[in-house]
Amino acid sequence: MEKRIVVLGAGESGTGAAVLARKQGFDVFVSDSGKIKDHYKEILFNFDIDFEEGKHTERLILNADEVIKSPGISEKSEIVLAIRKKGIRIISEIEFAGRYATGKKICITGSNGKTTTTSLIHHMLRKAGLNAGLAGNVGKSFAMMVATENYDYYVLELSSFQLDGMYEFKADIAILLNITPDHLDRYDYNIEKYVSSKFRITQNLSEDDFFVYCSDDEITIRELERIVMKAKQLGFTIKEQKQQGAYIENDLMKVEVDDDIFEMSLAELALKGKHNIYNSMAAGITGSVLKIRKPVIRESLMDFKGVEHRLERFIKVHGIEFINDSKATNVNSTWYALESMTTPVIWIAGGIDKGNDYNELVDLVKAKVKALVCLGVDNTKLHKAFESVVPVIVDTKSMKEAVTTAYRLGKKGDTVLLSPACASFDLFENYEDRGWQFKKYVREL
Ligand code: ADP
Repeated sequence: MEKRIVVLGAGESGTGAAVLARKQGFDVFVSDSGKIKDHYKEILFNFDIDFEEGKHTERLILNADEVIKSPGISEKSEIVLAIRKKGIRIISEIEFAGRYATGKKICITGSNGKTTTTSLIHHMLRKAGLNAGLAGNVGKSFAMMVATENYDYYVLELSSFQLDGMYEFKADIAILLNITPDHLDRYDYNIEKYVSSKFRITQNLSEDDFFVYCSDDEITIRELERIVMKAKQLGFTIKEQKQQGAYIENDLMKVEVDDDIFEMSLAELALKGKHNIYNSMAAGITGSVLKIRKPVIRESLMDFKGVEHRLERFIKVHGIEFINDSKATNVNSTWYALESMTTPVIWIAGGIDKGNDYNELVDLVKAKVKALVCLGVDNTKLHKAFESVVPVIVDTKSMKEAVTTAYRLGKKGDTVLLSPACASFDLFENYEDRGWQFKKYVREL
């Protein structure tokens, strides 16, 4: 009899996994406890895949040989507990797709900067003329890509939830950008569990593979001292500290892999801000490891356009610059956004707080922010944290109101920065919706 694969969740990754499983000749069943989007339903119909929505029928699930779980479904959900109790193996879509992908896999994880770095590396590989696809936590699912396209290189963004369901999967180049507390609710508020999850990106690496990491990141360094790894390790730092990997010397970013050295001026980097030096370094190291020609590495780090909603400088209105950093959903990413500001800031922040500690921002806010526009259902925590630091604090309840208020408070030479440090679900569908509304109302000014 055919092996039965059950896929839990019919979003981007679940639908992709189902299609790949079908193409590989498995008996496939998809179960989603919510409503499945029409777009994904159509795909399931087209590939003749059985599915249910609005429920999980145990009879149809607990007879699986293997279950592919979407990253959004919690380990603690009833159905997952039942599957575990039966001893059925649960894997992630990435693990499954990894079995059938023949190309080299460049995998990127971290608490912040994943999408930016993944897109930047993909841009570099394409510029070098390599047949490279971008997938994972951004864009298409890896499984759908493996099922329908053929690449020599896969540049994959991996979230910790995706990594949690990975066992045999092996990267060729594994990149860990940083580790700062995020999503701790899913890890029993235990940072060690979150760290271990991020480090799964290094599992199964062999002597021929590479581990690229931030050597300024204390949590990463501490974990590295504890574990054994066969891969060649390449660190990046923004300090003047010569090492294999990347570092800074006289305002130059230097990438050193074995005896090969690549350097370029920091001023030439397309992506601005300290955090983006890290991201550019990770990409530069990857380029060197893959032996991409130096002029191509340089050019791609110079002409990369950035990704929407990440410190996106998109328009000036009457001399006031508007920046959309809607993707900043935690304190750490907002810290880097504020850090990179060079003009007085009118800061739009707020939303759903995942246990934020605003203390880390106080010094930067004091130095750079002239007004704070709170945009959330409950803004008490923001008020408490900043009322003695920022001269003007205003509450708003919609993006339109926030934009017009910020504009009114600004003058020529100022910057209006949307960098919420919070999730968006109280007033918006998601961070994209929040960013698009921001841009819409700015254009209407
Ligand atoms: P992710 O995919 O990990 O969520 P993004 O590339 O989408 O990361 O960026 C999310 C936010 O984090 C943006 O607001 C960006 O300004 C900030 N950011 C980007 N790179 C880094 C980094 N290396 N360290 C800290 N913050 C970063």
